[in-house]
Order: sequence, then structure tokens, then C-alpha cells
Amino acid sequence: DNLNNAGNNNQQVTVTLKSFNPVYRVVMLGPAGVGKSALTDQFMTSEYIGPTDNTSIDTEEEKIITVQLDGEESTLSFIDPEDDEVDLDETKVDAYIVVFSSNDRNSFDVAVETLHQLREELATDKAIILVANKIDLARKRKIDIEEARSTALKYDCKYAETSAALNHHVDELLVGILSQIRLKQNPELL
Ligand code: GDP
Ligand code: MG
Repeated sequence: DNLNNAGNNNQQVTVTLKSFNPVYRVVMLGPAGVGKSALTDQFMTSEYIGPTDNTSIDTEEEKIITVQLDGEESTLSFIDPEDDEVDLDETKVDAYIVVFSSNDRNSFDVAVETLHQLREELATDKAIILVANKIDLARKRKIDIEEARSTALKYDCKYAETSAALNHHVDELLVGILSQIRLKQNPELL
């Protein structure tokens, strides 16, 4: 009887420790057509995906993966809202990926407005990465790297250039957002 009880207690401890592994919530922002869903789909195929499979809880607007980085597994939930009217003031959000299309000036203006809202109006200090997507359309490019970079700097964001279509630099974006989240949670790593 005593032995049985001890065994049960051990199981209890295991379950409790596992539940401490948090789910980091990342919101994909940007106007329709910039490639938010394409990027999220590519995240799901990353070579950084860890052994724990969470895909059974995926929905149309929320996709969950585990990422193995620096010997540690983290669970990331990507919120990819269908419409533009996202409630930004989400206390449960850990990071934002603000996407624009590098061949579309209007989408860049929307992204800048979003950065302004996040940093100035909501005064969030959460991790934000500004992403220029569709850089495969190089000849149609409207926003050059200097302008995008200096905008990211102004709003204390990281900057990335991706092509979801070619799966170019998408892994770097995934690793980048997780690194930023970990740094915010553990400032002593800085
Ligand atoms: P969302 O509305 O932001 O979710 O955008 P989608 O992911 O639905 O993409 C909108 C369109 O852009 C689709 O036709 C995609 O195939 C296309 N697209 C997405 N990413 C890229 C990219 O990196 N390069 C190119 N050329 N097209 C892309
Ligand atoms: Mg979409």
C-alpha cells in the first residue's frame, strides 16, 4: 500500500513539473495578403520542430508547435487572425510578428501604424519582429532594407526579410522570435 502511494505521488510530481512549461503566444499582424498564413504554415514544417507533437490542438486561427533551440524545447502558439480587426491589447501575448509585403508600400504603412500602436499607445515592451515578406519579388520591391531597418530600430524591434513562398529565412524568423521571447523572460541572459 505504501509503495503504491509513493508511486502515485511520483506521477503527480511529473505532471506538475510538465505543466510549468509555458506556451508562448505569438500573434501574426499585418493586412490581408502579406503572407501571414503562408509564414505560419512554413513554421509548421521547420527543421527546429521538437519531438513533442501538439498539432492535434491546432485550429484555423491558432497553430501550436514545439521548437528545439539550444538544447531546450519550447512550445509556441501562433495566432493568425483571419481579419484585420485584432484586439492588440492581449495580456496573454508574448510576442508580435508584424508582417508587410516588400512590394507593397501600403502594407508597410499599415505595419508602421501597428508598431506605433503597440509601442506608443499600448506601451508594450513585448518582443516584436518587423518582417518584410515576399522578398523573392525583388524587382517589384518598394521598401528598401535601410528604410525598413531604421523603422524597426525606431520602435525597438528586430527586423527580418523572408520569402514564405521560397521558405527563405523562415527558420531564422522562428528562431529569432523564440530567442527574443526567452531574452525577455530571462533578462539575465542579456
Ligand atoms: P495573409 O492574408 O497575410 O495570411 O496572406 P497569405 O499567406 O494568404 O498570402 C497571400 C498571397 O501571397 C498568397 O497568394 C500567397 O501564396 C502569396 N505569398 C505569401 N508569401 C509569399 C512570398 O513570400 N512570396 C510570394 N511571391 N508570394 C507570397
Ligand atoms: Mg491569412
